[in-house]
Amino acid sequence: MIDAHNHLHDTRLVPHRAAVFAALVQLGVTRAVVNGTREDDWPAVAALARGHAFVLPSFGLHPWHVAARSSDWLARLRENLDANPAAVIGEIGLDRWIAGYDPDAQREVFTAQIALAAERNLPATIHCLRAWGPLWDLIRTGPVPARGFLLHAYGGPAEMVRAFSARGAYFSFNAYFLDDRKAAQRAVFEHIPIARLLVETDAPDMRPPDDRNAHPLHDAGGGPLNHPANLALTYAALAELRGLSVEQLTAQVAENFARLFGK
Ligand SMILES: [Zn+2]
Repeated sequence: MIDAHNHLHDTRLVPHRAAVFAALVQLGVTRAVVNGTREDDWPAVAALARGHAFVLPSFGLHPWHVAARSSDWLARLRENLDANPAAVIGEIGLDRWIAGYDPDAQREVFTAQIALAAERNLPATIHCLRAWGPLWDLIRTGPVPARGFLLHAYGGPAEMVRAFSARGAYFSFNAYFLDDRKAAQRAVFEHIPIARLLVETDAPDMRPPDDRNAHPLHDAGGGPLNHPANLALTYAALAELRGLSVEQLTAQVAENFARLFGK
């Protein structure tokens, strides 16, 4: 199984790291794209990748962190990619849900990163909340990596799947969509081209609903975390949704992942 999007380096998972990694080995997780979200956490992503062969390091500046960027953030991103030849780009994106968002700064930072991904033909992982129109404008007109890009935990409308696909999009399914209130979003995944499906946890965020959560986990303050081993139930749920066996879905996702992220 492959987790196309998570944050295994997150400080909230550090106290649980030994148990979490043991669980992933037992599950047979062969690859995980571990996404940095700001200059500060890129070294932790690189360190994790050095220690664990299944970790694919990914560096990006997330829209939530654009305000805190340094003046030379883009040069530092290039340096991190140069120093880690296996690395890919993400998490990047647009977000009009987060309080106090700055659409101009987000657009500038996103555009620079997607252009860098296109220049190096590296897969890019994109976060989008309440900004599907603005994102589409940039994807439609701007450069995108020839090998494609990932719309992680795709929460956009079904009507946009075809257009995004034509520009090279892949779409990852997250168990967060198993919540009853997310039934409409879950249904969108019935219509995504089979060759463009991936599976993710976004751990330690976006956990499945409590009655489906197979691995309850909490931070030091008692706040709930998403255990990355919830990947197994995410595969099972998407397989059921698509009328496939877990084995069939696992094989298809491995093929899709290799096409997008394989080097
Ligand atoms: Zn994420």
